Amino acid sequence: MRYSQLFPKTQKEAPRGAEAENHKLLVRAGFIDQLMAGSFTLLPLGFRVVEKIKQIIREELNTTGAQEMLMPLMHPREIWNETGRWESAKEVMYQFKKDNKEFALSFTHEEIIVDLIRKHNIKLSDFPLKLYHFSTKFRHELRAKSGILRGREFLMKDLYSAHLTEDDMYKYYNDVTSAYLKIFKRIGLDVKVVEASGGVFTDKNSHEFQVLSSVGEDTIFYCDTCDFAQNDEIAKVKVGDKCPNCDGKILTSKAIEVGNIFPLGTKYSEKMGALYTDEKGNQMPVWLASYGIGPTRTLGTLVEVYNDEKGIIWPKSVSPFEVHLVHIEDPSTEETAEKVYNTLVENKVDVLWDDRKDASAGEKFATADLIGIPIRLVVSKRTEGKIEFKTRNSEKEELLSLEEVLEKLK
Ligand code: ATP
Ligand code: MG
Repeated sequence: MRYSQLFPKTQKEAPRGAEAENHKLLVRAGFIDQLMAGSFTLLPLGFRVVEKIKQIIREELNTTGAQEMLMPLMHPREIWNETGRWESAKEVMYQFKKDNKEFALSFTHEEIIVDLIRKHNIKLSDFPLKLYHFSTKFRHELRAKSGILRGREFLMKDLYSAHLTEDDMYKYYNDVTSAYLKIFKRIGLDVKVVEASGGVFTDKNSHEFQVLSSVGEDTIFYCDTCDFAQNDEIAKVKVGDKCPNCDGKILTSKAIEVGNIFPLGTKYSEKMGALYTDEKGNQMPVWLASYGIGPTRTLGTLVEVYNDEKGIIWPKSVSPFEVHLVHIEDPSTEETAEKVYNTLVENKVDVLWDDRKDASAGEKFATADLIGIPIRLVVSKRTEGKIEFKTRNSEKEELLSLEEVLEKLK
């Protein structure tokens, strides 16, 4: 991809009113655009990162046997009446009327999943069911000041599983916990698995996947030695306590919730009649669990964790491009730059080439630092037919031949 064709270009100024670092940097670097509070366009660069995050999530969930599908985003009131959530979740839902019928925009999909299960006359041998989708969620968020960390419209991956027994539900719940840890590791985020309440979803405890960060809206308590961690809304410990599980000490931090998993139990299937007939002929409710990750919040979290005074520093696994090629304009090196670009493309290296004729070396380097692709290659008069290789987070530059660059990229 040629930078001259990329929409939009980077900008020097952060948008007025932007407070969070992720908001400022993602707008300046051309990854997102804000339409109104809590509502963002994923521009081509932002879209690329989110697609990479989604692909990592998809691969790990498919490994657990989950199947991807896509559910509707506009729901009739009647289905929400069945569980009472039309009233109990009123504050968070966008509800509206058209032609005397009432609808809501999806803030979650438990009711829709349970409806699918009860309609499809599922045999005992079909269990467990593991279904997920990536879709837009709409939530009436009161505070929408954290950039793309908190949207009123945002992307969520939500997975739902249905089981014949509580044991089987918890077995898969543990599988998903492991899958989530692999997902966040691949994405480049260090997460803590934190015990928390179930909110509007369940009376049971849920587990949140939290990234320590001063801009996080949650406060967690965690052990400096073992995996023990609790959200402060339910916490039974305080700073300086001895850990209940080991000899470690309890610390505290602000944190960003990037994922949350809920053992829902039989509450929804009882209310909506998602039943199966057991061997003795009894009608039994199915056991449900649900599992969320926010890909757009993950995008913002990555920027909060990985940035410096010059811009963003993407982990390799989710970077919008693998390589940022900079050509310092000079007629004598034009052919070399063209050749390097074409060779990279032929070798399936995903490269963004700053081919602008009207930008200075300083401007091009600033653009590369702001966008944050982990590898920068420079072709200039100074490099004399060779290529300067530098990673975004080091000052060290190496002069390499094209073959050596290709070898290093492998
Ligand atoms: P929060 O406490 O931050 O409001 P939540 O607990 O209500 O979030 P869940 O219902 O658990 O959110 O949603 C699952 C995941 O969806 C979250 O872990 C997060 O990654 C993402 N998410 C939730 N709300 C938002 C939002 N307003 N904007 C962006 N992502 C969100
Ligand atoms: Mg949550």
